[in-house]
Parts: sequence; C-alpha cells; structure tokens
Amino acid sequence: MNKNTKIYAHEIRIRGLVQGVGFRPFVYRKAMDHGINGWVENNNTGVHIHAEGIKAALDAFLLSIRRAAPPASMISRIGVSEASVHNHTSFSIKKSEDLSAEITDVSPDIAVCDECLEDMKKQPHRLRYPFINCTNCGPRFTIIRGLPYDRPLTTMAPFVMCKKCREEYTNILDRRFHAQPVACKHCGPHYTLHSRGIIEENEDEVLKKTAALIDRGGIVAMKGLGGFHLACDARNEKAVDRLRKAKNRDGKPFAVMFRDMETAGRYARLGEAERQILGSWQRPIVLLDKKKETAAGVSVGFNTIGGMLPYLPFHHLLFGQLNTDVIVLTSGNISEEPIIISNGEAMERLAPVTDAVVLNNRDIHNRTDDSVVRVVNKVPRLIRRSRSWVPRPVNTGPDVDGIFACGAELVNCFCIGKGRQAILSQHIGDLKNAETLEFYSESAGRFKKLFRSEPRLIVHDLHPDYLSSRYAQESGLPSLAVQHHHAHIVSCMAEHSLDEKVIGVSFDGVGLGTDMQIWGGEFMLCELHEFERAMHLRYVPMPGGDMATKEPWRMAISYLIDAFGSDYHALPLPFLSTINPSSRRIVEQAIDLKINTPLTSSAGRLFDAVSALSGLCTHASFHAEAPMRLESIAEASETTAYGFETGQSIDTRPLIRDVCNDILKGVPAPLISARFHNTVINIIFAAVSRMSRAADIRKVVFSGGTFQNKYLLEGIENRLRNEGYSVFSPAGIPANDGGIALGQLLIAAARRSKH
Ligand code: ZN
Ligand code: ZN
Ligand code: FE
Repeated sequence: MNKNTKIYAHEIRIRGLVQGVGFRPFVYRKAMDHGINGWVENNNTGVHIHAEGIKAALDAFLLSIRRAAPPASMISRIGVSEASVHNHTSFSIKKSEDLSAEITDVSPDIAVCDECLEDMKKQPHRLRYPFINCTNCGPRFTIIRGLPYDRPLTTMAPFVMCKKCREEYTNILDRRFHAQPVACKHCGPHYTLHSRGIIEENEDEVLKKTAALIDRGGIVAMKGLGGFHLACDARNEKAVDRLRKAKNRDGKPFAVMFRDMETAGRYARLGEAERQILGSWQRPIVLLDKKKETAAGVSVGFNTIGGMLPYLPFHHLLFGQLNTDVIVLTSGNISEEPIIISNGEAMERLAPVTDAVVLNNRDIHNRTDDSVVRVVNKVPRLIRRSRSWVPRPVNTGPDVDGIFACGAELVNCFCIGKGRQAILSQHIGDLKNAETLEFYSESAGRFKKLFRSEPRLIVHDLHPDYLSSRYAQESGLPSLAVQHHHAHIVSCMAEHSLDEKVIGVSFDGVGLGTDMQIWGGEFMLCELHEFERAMHLRYVPMPGGDMATKEPWRMAISYLIDAFGSDYHALPLPFLSTINPSSRRIVEQAIDLKINTPLTSSAGRLFDAVSALSGLCTHASFHAEAPMRLESIAEASETTAYGFETGQSIDTRPLIRDVCNDILKGVPAPLISARFHNTVINIIFAAVSRMSRAADIRKVVFSGGTFQNKYLLEGIENRLRNEGYSVFSPAGIPANDGGIALGQLLIAAARRSKH
C-alpha cells in the first residue's frame, strides 16, 4: 500500500475546559474539513476522539484542534496515541458516557455572542428572544446539576425542544449543534413581569414596561444568570437613594451597566486593558477611573466606578428600549445576604421594595454573583471571582487530590482538589451571616457531588472560631490548620506555579498569627509547606477586637497613644471632635487595662487609623471602606513620604507623628494620603531589600487584601522591578480572602507529600 494513502488511527484525549463550550461539534467540523473518520465523545476525563485518516490529514486535524479551539475553551493537555484502525466510514458524535470517577471541567457561563445578537434580529423563531444562545455562548455553570454536561442534567431539562430547535441541535452544520441550552420562543423559557398583582406575559411588553419603569425612576428586580439584580436609572439621584434604602446599604458603591463601550468611555477612563476585559466573554464588573458622574449616590466619595457591559440577551433587549444609557445593576439581595436566586424568594423579599419584579421560568441552580476586576499595572486582577470564571480550574503542580480547603471568614470561597487541579467555588460571602453559611455548606456539598470528590483531608484557617474552621471540625475528616498569611502567599505562589523559597509580603485586614496575636502586615520567607515570619509591622493594641475593624477611629486612638502616649490629648486633631468622648474614654481604658484588646500588626488597621485621622472614615459602613476612601483621594503627583524605622518589628510611630504634624499644619488630605502610601511603599521596599540580602532571594510574592490598592501595588511592583526583583502579584486569583482556599489547598498538599 502507498505510504501516502495508508490509513492510521489515533486516540486523542483532550483535557481542560472542553465541555459545554462547543468542543465536540467543533471537532466534528474539523474532522469534516480534513476527511477524518471516527468519533468524538465527552467523558468525565474530557474530550475523547478516535480519528482515522491518512497521516497528513491526521496531522492537519490535530493542528487545527490546537489552533482553532472555541473562544471560551481552554485546552490544558492533549494526549495522542496510536490506535488500531476500525475502518470507520464516517465521523460521529457519541452520546455522553459515564466512564470514570475522574472529572473534566465544567464551563463557566459565557456572555451572549455577536452572532446570536444578529440572529435575535432575523431568526423568525428567535426574534427578540431573550434566551437565545449557541455552542459558543449562553448559560453553563449556573444551570448545571450534574455531569456529563448534557441537557437532562441542566435546569433546561423541563423544556422540550421544538422541531426547529431539534433540527438545529442535531444539524452538524448549524451553530447550535449540540448547544445544550438551545431554545426558541416556542419551546424555551420566558420572562414575565409582576407588578402590584398584575402579571405581564407578553415578552415584548415585559421589556417595554421594565424600561419605562426604569426611565421613570422606578426600581426593578430582574432575574439574571446567576441571581437576581436590582436595577434603576443610574443618573436618577432619587431612584439611586431609594435603591440604597431598599437594599439597606449605606455607603458601598453600586455597580452599573453601560449601554455599550462608547458609553463606558464617556463615564470612565478606559485604557487598552480595561477595554479588553470589559468587552471579554466574561463581562465582569470592572473598577474604572471615573470621568463623569452618574448620580452622585452611585459611588459617593470614590474616584472609581464599577461598570460592566450587557452580557445577557435580555440586557441588550432592555437597552433597546431604555432612554438612559447607564443603569445601576446591583445584586438582588438585602444587605449582605447571598444574592437571591429563586422566583419565590424574589417575590417575597424583593417585590415589597421594588416597583416590579421580572421573573423567568428557567431555574438558577448554582448561585453566582457578577465577578469584579480591576486593572492594576495593565494586568486585570480579580477582586471577586464568580460568574464566568467559576468553576474554571487552576492547574497545580503538586497532587491536590482529595483535599478540601475551607477558606477563611469574609469574602469566603472554598476549594476542592481533584488530581492536579484546584477548583475554587464561586464567591460565597461573609460566613458570619446565617444565610451565607447555609449557601456555603450547600455549595460545598454540590461541588463534592458535581466533581465526584470524596475529601480525605480538610484544611482550614488557624482561627478556631471561623465558621469555616468549625465546618472542618464537624466534618470528622483528618484536618489541618494553616496560618492565614501563609495561605495568602501560597495562593499567589500557586497562581504563578512557584515552588521554592520566596519573600512573601502579606498585607491585609486581620488573620490569626501563630503567636495568637492578630497579624496582617507580614514579611515572611515562604515555601509551600512552611514559612518563617521575618519582619512585621509594629504591634499596636486593637481595642474591642473585631469592633475596631468596623470603627476605624478606635485604631486612630490606639496609634495616637502608641506614638504620643497620653500627650495625644493635647493635639487639636479635628477628627477627635467627631468622636463621642465617653466612647473614647472606654477605648483608652481598654487599651490601658488590656481588656478585649489583642495586639495587631495589620496593615489594614494602619490604613484605617490614617483614614480616620484624616477625617475620611471614622465608622465603616462596609468592609475596608476606610482604606478604600484613603486610596481614592491620594494625589498621584506627590512624591514625599513620612518616616519609619526598620527592624524585625517595623516602627510606625514616626509615620503617625508625621501624619499628625501634617494634619495640624493644614496639609490637604490628598497629599497626606499620598505621603502615607509612599511611606508604605518605602516600608515594603526596605523590608524586602533587607530580607533579600539576608536570604539571597530575589523573588517577591504579594498577597492580601491590601494589595487591591492600586496606588500601593503599582508603586511597589514598579519600584522592585526597577531594582531587578522578580515580582509576583495576584491576578487570576483574588488577593483578598477569596483566594485563601487555594493557598490552604497547596499547603495541605505540600505537607501531605512530606510524610
Ligand atoms: Zn451565541
Ligand atoms: Zn424551539
Ligand atoms: Fe486575609
């Protein structure tokens, strides 16, 4: 037989994010293009192909799979091996089979694609149909109940495809071939509008009425992809104020949705990186530098605005009817509870505080909030990792199989280990809230089931009182406690595949230290399995413990006493006049008598103190408000800084004295803020230089919520890079406690492998 016409067979096994992203139809089309026979199937290890053809065709087929994979897919590995030829005469897509306990990745949700937006204007059965989707876009994780990813195991199961949809679904040449959530006007889900006992079922009317309500200054609750949203005209001050009251939310900024990129560019400064991430298929909320105000009430006192672009067909249709080009689109929940997902709860809890509720009859199975990103140093950094990222896995070097990592307490997120992949949960929230804790255990159960993970080891924060730590203890599994800031650093090491000794700088709010004090301004020599605390910010009392986090003025008093002793009474600092004198005396006594006053080295608390001293925020209405307000006013052109003393304990007293001097001299707060930030940059630079000389290490890893501060991170990254250091900072995994679970997982894996 001629060498060029001889038929060969290949077994091709593809791993990564290859399910639910149109991978099998894509493979089918490539097989057609290259004259390949055989089959493709989804199984629990990924996508499996049996391909037969001549050598050149097989090579070209394989190359095209690598090069032209669907936009939302991510191939982590392709294994090719010789197989025996079965003389297939066609290529087919085999039905999903439950092959092994191993698991492949479930796709995150994908924003509606341009082609579907076009179809929505011209396909008769999908004219203005708000559930349009295709193999390249649509709901995924939010509707998945089980694997393999096939319609019966999604919340689309109750919708029986009509003849037209089935034709598309089964026609290989169609864009909706094997698109699991495929639907149309005749067979798919629908929106309805509920307002004061009246139900509107005509979908065009639903859109018109929703838009009219918003344009008239109303508030509407709308079912989205991973939960409900509350919407109002972002330019209408009254509506925004009403929404604040409805949501029981004080100062925390609201996210907005812009009509399009052009509108976003009118309200905010967009660099190339901002444009890219705003327009990406993930469509996160992006924190942008404000250029023009919406209603002032959207983000009071901040120089940033969190904005996103439409990602559901419904959003596009709504903007087609709206006059306003920017709406507030905030999570449909009251206060800090988890975002509401069920129609019943929305009617019960959101209807009373809104003018209308827009429901649909497709269930949300997995709750997911909008993800939040900020571009720092031209790199998009996730602040909240949820919709369109979850459950995309993180590849880990070490074997993390069978480990469950509980996360911390605030902005909680847990993580399960499967083989050499870590799967982080969606953003769960603050576990102190009973509803959130319920969401936590429910999601943990679902993840274990969905990814067929039977944890054999559970890892949690050193803090025994975190509800996530109690979850670990109650599991009955062998457990391991890890230090909070070690986990922070290892989380960032995992993201950058580092497995060696590094200089870790962990600046955040609070985390329990191994000396039972409250850490948070830490310099550590760090490896995956262990760390050594080399330097830290000077300990100061934290009067009232957790209360100090909510009331930054307490930290201001503590730092004043630390820097001046009782002499501070003589300082005519304006902020002191705003504090209740008897509360102040109680705090002074608590510090004096060391009652409920742990010591803290937290950077977050230092930011709190300076924010309060500057009169920006004495009482926080949301997490990290004081540091955020301080950052927001910093004057970028200022280059001077305040004093400090390096040492194993870094003395911050000179800094506090300098800040007070400036305040008493009447130096404007934006300058004080910039000088303070510059000082923190100098402190980190000095500490890192000292550790680098002592340990001969040039790799520096940053993590902890304080590094969400753009001024700080850009400043210190650039400074260290200019000095030749390799700097690693969080991007795909949040710097805040939402990234902790990944660190915990890797520490547990590293310790396990040492035994
Ligand atoms: Zn599409
Ligand atoms: Zn249909
Ligand atoms: Fe933390």
